[in-house]
Amino acid sequence: MNTSVIPTTDPTKAATQGAAIIRAGGLVAFPTETVYGLGANGLDGAAVDRIFEAKGRPNDNPLILHVSRKEDAFPLWSGEPPFARQLMDTFWPGPLTLIYYRSAIVPDEVTAGLDTVAVRMPDSEAARALIAASGVPIAAPSANLSGKPSPTTAEHVLQDMDGRIPLILDGGPCRYGVESTVLTLVGAPTILRPGAVTKEMLAAVLGEVSLAPSVLAPLGAGEKAASPGMKYKHYAPNAQVLVVVGEAEAAARRLSALYDEFTAQKKRVAIAATKEALPFYGDRRTALMGTRRDPATLCSRLFALLRELDASSDVILSEGVGTEGTGLAFMNRLLRSAGFRVEYV
Ligand code: AMP
Ligand code: MG
Repeated sequence: MNTSVIPTTDPTKAATQGAAIIRAGGLVAFPTETVYGLGANGLDGAAVDRIFEAKGRPNDNPLILHVSRKEDAFPLWSGEPPFARQLMDTFWPGPLTLIYYRSAIVPDEVTAGLDTVAVRMPDSEAARALIAASGVPIAAPSANLSGKPSPTTAEHVLQDMDGRIPLILDGGPCRYGVESTVLTLVGAPTILRPGAVTKEMLAAVLGEVSLAPSVLAPLGAGEKAASPGMKYKHYAPNAQVLVVVGEAEAAARRLSALYDEFTAQKKRVAIAATKEALPFYGDRRTALMGTRRDPATLCSRLFALLRELDASSDVILSEGVGTEGTGLAFMNRLLRSAGFRVEYV
């Protein structure tokens, strides 16, 4: 299959071309403000199956349905989820996914057989134009091969999906660079995956919000994942990733020592660094992620950096930070990409 890439500079034209494929049961990769999505008609089980095939995604890992208007979310749920209206008024369109009991129109392929469904209204104009022109909710996971870092540019999508899908809409780099916050409204509101809508922001609306244990820790043997996506190897480049969490200078000293050990073993090493720690690495090979003062900058560079460094490194050493605010989303992705190999100094 030949994969075309077209820009979203003319959003109507891009949406029209994409929608024709979606309505015919095909796949279209499209930009959102979080990461690039790989979309199919969310009400057509056979179309949704093609997403799993193209990504090599385990079919017990459910997908998020994307809508272009708030009112289109309600027919996908059975009944109105508690807090849904306040949350939608505060955070939609935007990087917050809401989970509640599914209605009968949602195919099993989307929910992987669960009795709940995840729904989000993206803020990206190009994404909403595509959904609106398609006239159906679009089921979309991230547009990477299963297990790889999520794509934050159309070029990343092409690396993973060339020849597997007919069309990629190119909207440039994604604003946030990490996937949406996933919040379940079944029982006490619980964050299954952190994102740019932070725990603190949700608590301001909900009063109280819990965090699923799998957000920062690997699943224990026999433990059941609240979100099936959490049980898989995730966001991992081919290179081995190691994380050191600590204050800038202390982390840099430990990472420099590790760098020298791996270099002595003839490994190609790179350090993913924060601006604050950069002066402490001497002439070791570093790549700047962003600043500790605003972990959102770390989020937006993380996946792109893992892909860039992967080509030239056997080992990627990364600084970790605290889990306040968007630091939680950053650490959730970074620890998974490292297979939870982490040191605290
Ligand atoms: P992706 O779009 O690739 O980031 O994948 C969507 C994420 O949402 C995965 O981690 C899924 O496990 C999670 N998810 C989607 N639907 C549900 C659901 N009904 N219950 C729990 N988690 C879900
Ligand atoms: Mg994904």
